[in-house]
Amino acid sequence: MSKLFYQGRGRKPVLDQARGVYMWDKNGRRYLDGSSGAMVCNIGHSNDHVLAAMQRQMEKSTFGYRLHFETEASENMAEKLAEKMPEGLDRVFFVSGGSEAVESAMKLARQYALAVGQGERWKIISRTPSYHGCTLGALATTGYTTLTAPFEPMMRVMPKVPAPRAYLDGLDPDAAATGRHYADMLARRIEEEGPENVLAFIVEPIGGASTGALVSPAGYLERVREICDQYGILLILDEVMTGAGRTGAFLGVDHWGVRPDIVVMSKGIGSGYAPLGAMVADRRLVEPVLDAGGFAHGFTYAGNPLACAAGLAVLEEIDRQDLCTNAAAMGEKLLARLNGLMQRHEIIGDVRGKGLLTAFEFMSDRSTKAPLPKQLNAHQRFVDIAYERGLIVYSRRTRDGVEGDHILVCPPLILNEGHIDEIIEGLDESLVQFAQ
Ligand code: PMP
Repeated sequence: MSKLFYQGRGRKPVLDQARGVYMWDKNGRRYLDGSSGAMVCNIGHSNDHVLAAMQRQMEKSTFGYRLHFETEASENMAEKLAEKMPEGLDRVFFVSGGSEAVESAMKLARQYALAVGQGERWKIISRTPSYHGCTLGALATTGYTTLTAPFEPMMRVMPKVPAPRAYLDGLDPDAAATGRHYADMLARRIEEEGPENVLAFIVEPIGGASTGALVSPAGYLERVREICDQYGILLILDEVMTGAGRTGAFLGVDHWGVRPDIVVMSKGIGSGYAPLGAMVADRRLVEPVLDAGGFAHGFTYAGNPLACAAGLAVLEEIDRQDLCTNAAAMGEKLLARLNGLMQRHEIIGDVRGKGLLTAFEFMSDRSTKAPLPKQLNAHQRFVDIAYERGLIVYSRRTRDGVEGDHILVCPPLILNEGHIDEIIEGLDESLVQFAQ
């Protein structure tokens, strides 16, 4: 019996090797990594350039405590990451994962408010459904009552607004009025909460695990920016899943040209080579905090040189292989093929996504958008069937974590058309088996 425990007792096959988009278990079985782990391994597994960079760093030093030393690795990674950010976002704070990055953004926002004499601002509005992390701070902004309810006595749950889900509400996602309709819910919520108490709004530009690759409707993020400006509220973009090229641009928000105040990243910037996350903030926020005595926050492993050397090499590979462009091109083809699957399989009620953040949703009735009965646990059953066929995909409940089932198809950005054929074949066969 294994001593390990994660979510449950179930034992998984033991991973032996991984290369490119493929992984092999100890029994020699091959899997196509159709979800890049949990949308992590953007540049694919065992990339030679990254491994060599890590080897070089390992031979120099593997740890230098951030309050004792700067390292070239963390300086260079910060420089490279800042280059890829919208203008003015060039202050970088490294952490080891997405939840830590969200916590850091929440605490920077709060310390900024204190530093500029706005200590009454503390509420961070987020959306339902949403996922921003599992630590108690990040969880407070997470819009899934099933995840937050057990911990409510231990944290202050933050206010929520509905995530725009035009396809469920019968609205046209391409009409500017739709984006405005949802964004104005934020304005109303700010008024209800008392604008003087609201610190920030945190949002994913394209919903990841929570809504299943649901793209923001036209005009939504632009209007959100206007509302934040109108009320003096900070806009935090959670790019943990959408960042590092996943959606066909370096940041998801780049598709709309909206300028956030803080960006949080993880997953794809370490691409599975190292636990790495980053909060990148506008220098206008950071400078007052530093002037007021410093940023009172930090993790022991922040800016770890090995993680930063890996991250820098990952960013170099994203550039060298032009993976944003490949993600956009392959994403279009993959989405078209998923739409083809929807024509053959009645159970697929919706297909969506951008770049290589794509998903389909099961429905029992396309016209009413009714979900499958939740006791079927359809998303998990489907993932298990695909897994047996050597295809790894990722799934979640679509509707506030309670019902509805979506399957995320998010392979590494090095994808080619042959891989797409394999994924579609695996999904097609799995859907046939699933329906039996
Ligand atoms: N934000 C988003 C959008 C995420 O998808 C995740 C992880 N799924 C997190 C934050 C938390 O990241 P981590 O699991 O690395 O703490």
